[in-house]
Amino acid sequence: MTTTRTLLRGGHIVSMDPAMGDLVGDVLIEDGTITAIGPHLDIAEGAADIVDASRHIVIPGFIDSHRHLFQALMRGLAADWSLFQYFTTMFGMLGPRMSPEHMSLGTTLGAYDALDSGVTAVFDYSHNQSTPEHTDEAVRALQSTGIRAIFGYGGTMAEQLEILSPPFKSTTPSNEAEIRRVRGRYFASDSGLVTMGLAVRGPDSSPMDIVRADFRLARELGLRINTHIGMAVLDPYGRPNVTRLHSEGLLGDDLIFGHCNLLTDEEFRMMADAGVSASVTPEDESAMGHGWPPITQLLNAGIRPNIGIDTCMAVGGDPFTAMRFALAVPRGLANQRALESSVNPWLLDLSARDVLEFATIEGARALGMERATGSLTPGKQADIVMIRTDHISMAPVLDPVASIVHHASRQTVDTVFVAGKAVKRDGELVGVNAAELSRRAGESAAKLLDAAGVSPGWAPPPPAPPEGAH
Ligand SMILES: [Zn+2]
Repeated sequence: MTTTRTLLRGGHIVSMDPAMGDLVGDVLIEDGTITAIGPHLDIAEGAADIVDASRHIVIPGFIDSHRHLFQALMRGLAADWSLFQYFTTMFGMLGPRMSPEHMSLGTTLGAYDALDSGVTAVFDYSHNQSTPEHTDEAVRALQSTGIRAIFGYGGTMAEQLEILSPPFKSTTPSNEAEIRRVRGRYFASDSGLVTMGLAVRGPDSSPMDIVRADFRLARELGLRINTHIGMAVLDPYGRPNVTRLHSEGLLGDDLIFGHCNLLTDEEFRMMADAGVSASVTPEDESAMGHGWPPITQLLNAGIRPNIGIDTCMAVGGDPFTAMRFALAVPRGLANQRALESSVNPWLLDLSARDVLEFATIEGARALGMERATGSLTPGKQADIVMIRTDHISMAPVLDPVASIVHHASRQTVDTVFVAGKAVKRDGELVGVNAAELSRRAGESAAKLLDAAGVSPGWAPPPPAPPEGAH
């Protein structure tokens, strides 16, 4: 078999691998794997496809540890909704009316949106598996896009809806037979670009017998577990739930905890000791009512967080904005504390490189993929993003890391490779009819909103006060 070689020539490489560092040079890709990086790789004429990477910053693909891809179909609808307005409408009105075709279209749209902005791997937290057909369509859609992903099987919207009424816990057991079917049918081996995980309701949203059963099943099947925890006032009586998991010996390095806004420092230390990953989604957490992203507390406990978008219903799908929120919010909180003590901040918390790490190598660690992706390292898969430096928003590039974090946007993402395959070239997704996809999404979303009785700009009113309340 002949080897397929691609050489990225003369880029400004920000490897995110401390042993490799940053350099101006070349990246050699052979059969989807990075095999060499150096200032000038000597490749014989005609032995490789040459990609001119001069006037580009070359970085590892971004990794999103928490994103509900299917919700791209309802993009922007939750822009002015609080978290509980979103719950009420998503779980009670929109989600239950989504068809398998909606899941397919939304997942496709969400994955291409991610790829277009340089996200090469994602944990797809897909909690709308109302029927096996919903799951079949979502999985096939995800596999068709060329993104590296963990398909996070997340149960049904009916289960989610149970969280919103007394006893404010979802008590329906997870569908174990269906989880086993999906594992066997689509993910019998873990060698594909898309693998399987479990997106569970977790102890904030389901009783401990369900939590134990979900964790046991996930661990038996070798599935990484992602869950929302410690956000908003979801379980005001039952917390601290990380302490509960800790006391039952359930914490482990196969867990990704999303949000974590209201956890205690002691719980962060328990997570650190057990190797639990923390996924912060700084923009929607700040805006919707989850609580502040707990980045400083996590770092103080010894946990390097990773970053997710969460939902394109509320925020945009690009990792650049997420990185900027991940940098600005903890700095803002620290600065405010200093100012309130009548001190002008001199040194700032965090750096642009920190948040670039959160969005790349730390995401890879959270997804259990650090041996395959997350940095430009020989031996890893070629998940690579080339960012234009000659775009008007970028020049001059004096500090490439600052340029990526503060000035880059999806418009500057020129080329994206996943496992060496170009999914975006010269600023365009490869083999994607964006106009047709947009048309279908628009039509499909309009019908869904119509059926659900939801219109853009509408927001659910507050629930009636409980009986006997004054
Ligand atoms: Zn979420």
